[in-house]
Amino acid sequence: MTEPRRPSIAPEFLEILACPIDLGRLELRDDRLACSRCGTKYRIEADGIPNLLIDAAELPAGAASHTEIEGWKQRNRPEL
Ligand SMILES: [Zn+2]
Repeated sequence: MTEPRRPSIAPEFLEILACPIDLGRLELRDDRLACSRCGTKYRIEADGIPNLLIDAAELPAGAASHTEIEGWKQRNRPEL
């Protein structure tokens, strides 16, 4: 019997990873890496390497494209 291999990522590796869209922290959620800011989810390949390509990412509900998320980021940016 073979169980499906759950991807795992070393915590110290996870710590240096960031969302390519807004540089938000990524956290392991189920078998994906989810951005704590914009909610975009990134797949983890079978070999445990996260796929951080925006084109391959799963965008959060309501976002039509990653450029739209870029827009959210601009809007949420605090006034300096
Ligand atoms: Zn993000």
